[in-house]
Amino acid sequence: MKMSLLAIMIAVSAAVSAQVYLDFNAPLEKRVEDALRHMTLEEKIAIIHAQSKFSSPGVARLGIPELWCTDGPHGIRAEVKWDEWEQAGQTNDYCTAFPALTCLASTWNPEMARLYGEVIGEEALYRKKNVLLGPGVNIYRTPLNGRNFEYMGEDPYLSAQMAVPYIQGVQSKGVATCVKHYALNNQEDGRHTVNVSLSDRALYEIYLPAFKAAVQEGKSWSIMGAYNRFDGQYACHNHRLLIDILRKEWGFDGAVISDWGGCSNTKEAIANGLDLEFGSWTDGLTDGSSNAYDNYYMATPYLKLIWGKAVGTMELDEKVRNVLRLIFRTSMNPKKAFGAMVSEEHQKAARTIADEGIVLLKNEGGILPIAGKKKIVVIGENAIKMMTVGGGSSSLKARYEISPLDGIKSRALRAGCSVSYTRGYVGDIGGEYNGVHSGQNLADKRTVEELTAEAVEAAKNADLVIFVGGLNKAEHQDCEGVDRLQYDLPYGQDALLRNLKAANPNLVAVMLSGNAYSMPWLNDVAALVQAWYIGSETGHAIADVLFGDVNPSGHLPFTIMPSLEDYPSHQYGAIGYPGEDNEEVYKEDIFVGYRYADLFGRKKALSYKTGDMDFRIAPPKHKPLFAFGFGLSYTTFEIADAVVKDNVLSVKVTNTGDKAGKTVVQMYVAPKKASVVRPVKELKAFRKVLLKAGESQVVKIPLTESMFQYWDVEKHAFVTDKGSYQLMVGDASDHITAKAVYNL
Ligand code: BGC
Repeated sequence: MKMSLLAIMIAVSAAVSAQVYLDFNAPLEKRVEDALRHMTLEEKIAIIHAQSKFSSPGVARLGIPELWCTDGPHGIRAEVKWDEWEQAGQTNDYCTAFPALTCLASTWNPEMARLYGEVIGEEALYRKKNVLLGPGVNIYRTPLNGRNFEYMGEDPYLSAQMAVPYIQGVQSKGVATCVKHYALNNQEDGRHTVNVSLSDRALYEIYLPAFKAAVQEGKSWSIMGAYNRFDGQYACHNHRLLIDILRKEWGFDGAVISDWGGCSNTKEAIANGLDLEFGSWTDGLTDGSSNAYDNYYMATPYLKLIWGKAVGTMELDEKVRNVLRLIFRTSMNPKKAFGAMVSEEHQKAARTIADEGIVLLKNEGGILPIAGKKKIVVIGENAIKMMTVGGGSSSLKARYEISPLDGIKSRALRAGCSVSYTRGYVGDIGGEYNGVHSGQNLADKRTVEELTAEAVEAAKNADLVIFVGGLNKAEHQDCEGVDRLQYDLPYGQDALLRNLKAANPNLVAVMLSGNAYSMPWLNDVAALVQAWYIGSETGHAIADVLFGDVNPSGHLPFTIMPSLEDYPSHQYGAIGYPGEDNEEVYKEDIFVGYRYADLFGRKKALSYKTGDMDFRIAPPKHKPLFAFGFGLSYTTFEIADAVVKDNVLSVKVTNTGDKAGKTVVQMYVAPKKASVVRPVKELKAFRKVLLKAGESQVVKIPLTESMFQYWDVEKHAFVTDKGSYQLMVGDASDHITAKAVYNL
């Protein structure tokens, strides 16, 4: 039977219009509406919850693929079984382990963050992942938080500036970021139950800015709800966080994904903006039994409410739209490439980022870089311990990991030095996480006395002692799920360091950790290098800095105080941390990190009211051991001549030493007079600058109104006091060398 031309045209146009969602050139919102129109109620419900540990189903009937998530944030996690955390047992699921985000933040270099995003995005692509669960931007409120290593320090501006290019880098590859954990997940103890109360001012000035930047500037395609509560409501279905702030104030158009098991209430999840439920407990079945995936809070229980007309489908359609947008941007993005795994470029990127993130904290008598030392002894468990396995969900199956000892050895060989090793202490001998094994046997039966005696003897016979210690990724160290139990270094390292100093004053300490710790031995070490967790290139990067192939340029993303009591979050008893009967109040308000340390020297406590909360901030008893923003170099810099003209601050930075190097020009601001209590200063701009020996450069920083604002709780807005502001410029928060006044 022949069709008329008209009939053919009608049929073709119907077919075409029936598939707008498959038309990659059609506008995104048209595709979303078209896909929504094609979906049944059951299909809509299916795509808003998981079908396995890390995937949600697409709509097979319509050719919409599954969505695959992966941890995050330092590399692509190994494959687990469909419904278990145990390993799937594959041999092709390794990755490059990139430096921990604390190390990235320490580079103070947004170009490093962009590079990081691009390379990890490529690894996600190669492993066929659509959503990378990271970056983490929770604020460093207490040094006990087991997950600080996954975050970017204590300052909201620094975190925001580093998160945005990371996100843009990942998403430039067609992989979504899922910025986490939104919000107020600033500790691991009690993370599933604690209810956080704080002033709106602390919320908007300290804890939200990095999330806001991630959404508005980075345009993250998804965000992860945190486990904890805020305003008495779980963050994964928290009306204020998800509807009022995220959607209405910030205009987020992506998907809200629950932290794994973070959803616990169907009605709240429906009403309060959760789009995709992951990780709730199941017995592994897809449907049919009481704990199958179809019994997720956002599965059959939701359907039943709709069938019973207790809720309509308006919220459901909105959730589906958000998920479809995520799918079209990632799994159905025809422009995305295929990615690569452990390529030379990725290895080089991991090393470059690590090289820039390592922080030289002390270097007495120029003992570093290593020169003229023939016999080196390396002491300490962290010189040999693999750190990519452990720590919780960020644990990796790295294709390779160069240990500090191996890195130092191979570089020392080229320098003509000999390197020996002795353990010094036994810390954590575990080397397994969810079935990934480090393959190391670190068991050691020797007593503390034997280990110490051997280390001291070795130190006596060496020209240089390199102690490699710090924390590790075992429980109660730098690890998800629980916090640290103490601020001091574990495993008797303090005593060992003192003994080593007595044996040989040429003592260099290299510390691996994601957190600050006490340093009663600080005067005993000639040099101190904060080396974070660096991943695959650990040993190479450490050797680069120790031997001077790289001039260190990392600066601290958090303040290191002498003792735990010097942190404001630890000055109010259990209600301030870790919470009392699951209630926790951020009584230090906006005085977090250097904002608190800067109060040193004040005679009186600050007493003030914000909204209906009363605050009393007693000044610190001690100065920081190392201030926020601090970091040494093998050369020296001078930052001077701050001048403001036409709303631009110019400041001259000169390399006054004899080696090329990078420094960080940091600009802090403070009002001369303020209508509310303000910090002594706040970071509002920074630039990483590379200078040859003797070279100068004028750094220009445009001044914008947003740099001078505070959050007005009554007006519910950022407001600006007109008047004079002090601009303070230096290379650390406690080393301001140039000042200028700006009249707003
Ligand atoms: C963690 C998340 C992680 C998720 C999936 C949760 O326990 O809090 O950060 O992305 O597990 O592994």
